[in-house]
Amino acid sequence: MSRHQLDLVMCLKQPGTFIGKVCDRCDGRCPTCDSYVRPKYKVRICQECAFGANANRCVICGQYGNNDAHYCWECCRLEKNRDGCPKIVNVGSNKLNKHYERKPMDAGF
Ligand SMILES: [Zn+2]
Ligand SMILES: [Zn+2]
Ligand SMILES: [Zn+2]
Repeated sequence: MSRHQLDLVMCLKQPGTFIGKVCDRCDGRCPTCDSYVRPKYKVRICQECAFGANANRCVICGQYGNNDAHYCWECCRLEKNRDGCPKIVNVGSNKLNKHYERKPMDAGF
């Protein structure tokens, strides 16, 4: 679960018919829970994550990847595969933190 930190946020847009990809290192790994156990359904991602600069990018780590990504059976059972596009979109950015962690004391700088 170490991957799911505050600065890693999933896209969660409405998926299209595009199959998500994973790199060789992440092959067989579930994009929502990191499990390698019993991959089941193919991962579907949204149009934005399927084309352009995001084409053929690993949904987990963003490296070039050309293997089909799969959800594990557990996530399929929990219907996490219906949550939306699971691609990690803002590694290293803190868009969300601005909303949830506004510190009144250190405005500026
Ligand atoms: Zn997406
Ligand atoms: Zn990867
Ligand atoms: Zn899973």
